[in-house]
Amino acid sequence: MSTQLTSDRRGRGRALRLGTAALGTTLLFAAVGSTVAASHAAELEDLDGKISAVASLTAADLGEYYDRARSIDLLLSRSTTFRRFAPGNDVQRPTAPGSLELDPAAAEAAASLAYLEELYPGQISEACLIDSAGHELARVVRGVVAPPEELSHEEAEAPFFAPTLALPEGRVYQAAPYLSPDTGEWVISNSTPMADAAGRPWGLVHFEVTLESFRRTGDAADGFDISIVDTRTGRVVLEGDRPLGTRELGRPADRALLQLLADAPAPAPASIGDRRLAMARVPVAEDNATAWVVVVSTPTSAGAWWESVGPAPVATALAAVLLLTFAGLNLRNSHRRLRDASLSDELTGLPNRRLLTDRLDQALALARRGGHTSAILLIDLDRFKEVNDTLGHQYGDELLRAVAARLGDAFRESDTVARLGGDEFAILLPEVTDLAAAVHQAERCVTAMQAPFVVRGFTLSVEASVGLSLAPHHGDTADALMRAADVAMYEAKAGKGRVVVYDPALDGNSLSRLSLLGELRHALQSGELVMHYQPKVDVADGRVTGAEALIRWQHPDRGMVPPADFIPLAEGTSLILPLTMHTLELALVRARTWLDGGTPIQVAVNLSPRCLLEPDFPRQVADALDRCRLPAHLLRLELTESTIMADPGRALVSLTQLRALGLSLSIDDFGTGYSSMSYLKRLPVDELKIDRSFVMEMLSNNNDAVLVRSSIDLGHNLGLAVVAEGVEDEETLAALSALGCDVAQGYHLA
Ligand code: C2E
Ligand code: CA
Ligand code: CA
Repeated sequence: MSTQLTSDRRGRGRALRLGTAALGTTLLFAAVGSTVAASHAAELEDLDGKISAVASLTAADLGEYYDRARSIDLLLSRSTTFRRFAPGNDVQRPTAPGSLELDPAAAEAAASLAYLEELYPGQISEACLIDSAGHELARVVRGVVAPPEELSHEEAEAPFFAPTLALPEGRVYQAAPYLSPDTGEWVISNSTPMADAAGRPWGLVHFEVTLESFRRTGDAADGFDISIVDTRTGRVVLEGDRPLGTRELGRPADRALLQLLADAPAPAPASIGDRRLAMARVPVAEDNATAWVVVVSTPTSAGAWWESVGPAPVATALAAVLLLTFAGLNLRNSHRRLRDASLSDELTGLPNRRLLTDRLDQALALARRGGHTSAILLIDLDRFKEVNDTLGHQYGDELLRAVAARLGDAFRESDTVARLGGDEFAILLPEVTDLAAAVHQAERCVTAMQAPFVVRGFTLSVEASVGLSLAPHHGDTADALMRAADVAMYEAKAGKGRVVVYDPALDGNSLSRLSLLGELRHALQSGELVMHYQPKVDVADGRVTGAEALIRWQHPDRGMVPPADFIPLAEGTSLILPLTMHTLELALVRARTWLDGGTPIQVAVNLSPRCLLEPDFPRQVADALDRCRLPAHLLRLELTESTIMADPGRALVSLTQLRALGLSLSIDDFGTGYSSMSYLKRLPVDELKIDRSFVMEMLSNNNDAVLVRSSIDLGHNLGLAVVAEGVEDEETLAALSALGCDVAQGYHLA
C-alpha cells in the first residue's frame, strides 16, 4: 500500500497531469491510525470523534471519486472523436466481422478510450462507445483495443444501457456494482448518453473501474477497520483482505449494524459487541444507483483499545498523521496561541513570513546589544512538487502539515519555525554559539525529514535543502540575512549539499546571482524593463481579442535578457512584488493609450505565485487601475496552476477579490501542472490557456494532440474560453479551429 514516488511514476507523462491526479480511491483502505499515542484514559468521546472523522473523510473521498468519474465521462462524451459517429455524419461504421483492422475513425475513438488508462492506471476494466441499438463502435478492455470481430452487438442487455439512454445529455448514470461480463471483475460503471440536435440519444460512452482497485490494506491488527456496507443489499462490499465474492458481492453485514443503519439517516457512533463504530453515508449524486455507508470500527474490550499500542515507529508515525489530520492537534502549544491569523500560516498554524521577520528584527536588535550570533535556516522541500503533481493538493497540504509538525518538534520553543509559503520553511535561531552550532541545527532539519511521511496511507519521502546565514557575519538586517540564506538555499538545491552556508567569497554563482539581483533592482528604476505585446486572436474570425504583455530586459551590457533568466531569480526574493507592479503599470498605461486611440484592447499580465500570497495585492491592483484610469474589464491576469495550487485556500481568496474588481483571470500553462477538476470549477477564472509545449507539437505527437483536444473539451465543459499558445504555423491554427479552440496566440499570428 505504500507508494514511493519513483521516477517512472514521475515520467508517466504529461497526460496524467492533465486535470486529474489519482484521487480518493487510493486512500480508502489506508491504515489510518492503527494506534493513537494517547497516554492513558482517552475519552470515549475522543475516540468517537476520531472514528467519525475517518468515516466521514472516507465517505467524502468516495463521493469525490464518483464526481471525478462523472466529469471524465462527460469530458469524453464531448470529444469530437465520438461525436463523429452521430447519425448524419458519413463516418464509416466498424466493418463487418472478418476484417482485421478497425476503420480509422473507430481506431481513433478506441485510442481516446485507451486514454482512460492514463487517468486510472491499471484500474479500467472496460471502456466503450455504443450506439443506441446496442452495437459497440469501439471498445478497450484492460487497456487493449478490441479488434472488430470482438465488438459486441448485444450491449442493450447490459445493466447500464437502458438507464443511461433514458437520461438527457449531460447526465451520467452510475450503476450499482456488477460483474463485468468481459473481465469477470466487480466494477463501478459510468455511462453518459450522446444525443442528436433533437435530443434523441444515438449512443453512449461507458467505462468501468474495478472495485478491487478501491482496496488497500485493511490493517485489522490493532487499528481501525474501514469497510463499506451496501444498504441496498445489506452486504459488506469491501473490507480488509476479504474477497469480493464470485456470485454475490461481499458478505452479509451484521444484523445489529443493519438495524442501526435502518433506524437513523445519520447514525451516531455506537457499540456492537466489543467494537466501537462510526458510520457515514457516501454522498449520492443524481443518477448514482449506489447506496453505500462507510463503517469505521475499532475494538474496545480485552483491555482498553489504546493499551494494545506497541512502540513501533510505524505506529507512532500513523498516530502523528491521525492526530494532525483528524484532531488538529499537531500544533505546538505556543503556536496554538497564535490566534491572529495574519501572523500565522493558515495551513500549518506556524508563524508566517511577517511574524518571522518581526522576530528576526527583534533578535537582531538583541544580538547587536548582547554581541551574540543569530542564524536563519531556509528550508525548501525537494520533492514536494512531485507529491502535489502526482497525488493532488490534498496530499500536498497534509504533507506540509506533517513537515511543519516534525520541524516544530525538532526545535526549541525559543526558536521560531515559520512557513514562508509553498514548500518553503524558515527557522530563526535567535542565539547560537557559533557557525558549527548553527550547522548542527541545520543538519537536524535534514535528519528530521529523513524518515518517510505517511499521508493517508501513502509513504512519501521528501528531502530538505537548507540554506544558512549568520548575523552579524552575513548581514545585520532581516532583509540581508534572508537574502543570504536564500542564496545559500539555492546552492543547496543546485546540489551543492543538503546544508549550505552562505559564502559570497567562495561562490561565484551566488555572486553573479546577487549582482544580477542588484542590477535588476536598478533596472526597475532606469527604464531598462520594457514590455512586448503579443496579440491574442479569435480563431473563428481573426479578430484581435487582446494582447499578452511579456517582459524584456534591455540590459546595457548583457543585451536582451529573456524573462526566463531573471523572473525565476526575482521570484525567489521579495523583488518580484515591485517588479510585478511595475509590469502591471506599464501594461495598464499601454492599454490606456490603445483605448484613447479608439481601439480598446484587453491587456493580459502574468502573475508570479508570490503575488497571490500577498494579502494586499488585490488592493494594489485596484489602485493601479485607478491611477491609469483604465476600466477593469480591459485587464486580464494570467496565473499558472501551480501558482494556485501552492496554497489553494489563500489563492481562492485573492482571486475572488481580484475578480470582484471586474477584471478577467486566466489559467496559464494548462497541462503542465496538477489541477483538480473540482478545483477548476470553483475558481473564478474565465479562460484556460493550453501550454505552448503541447500546441507546438500537436501535429507531430499524438499524445499532445489528445491532450490539446481534451483540454479544449474540459475548458468548454467548465464554461471557459480556451486559448492555444505557441501557434507557429497555419496548419496548427487550422487544426485548432477544427477542434473548436476559441483563441490562438503565437509567432504565426504575432
Ligand atoms: P508564458 O506566459 O507562457 O508566455 C508565453 C511565452 O511563449 C513567451 O515567452 C512568448 O514569447 C513565447 N511564445 C509566444 N508565441 C510563441 C510561439 O509561437 N512559439 C514559441 N516557441 N514561443 C512562443 P517569453 O516572453 O520568453 O516568456 C516566458 C515566460 O516568462 C512567460 O511564459 C511567463 O511565464 C514569464 N513572463 C513573461 N513576462 C512576464 C512578466 O511580466 N511577469 C511575470 N511574472 N512573468 C513573465
Ligand atoms: Ca502567460
Ligand atoms: Ca504559457
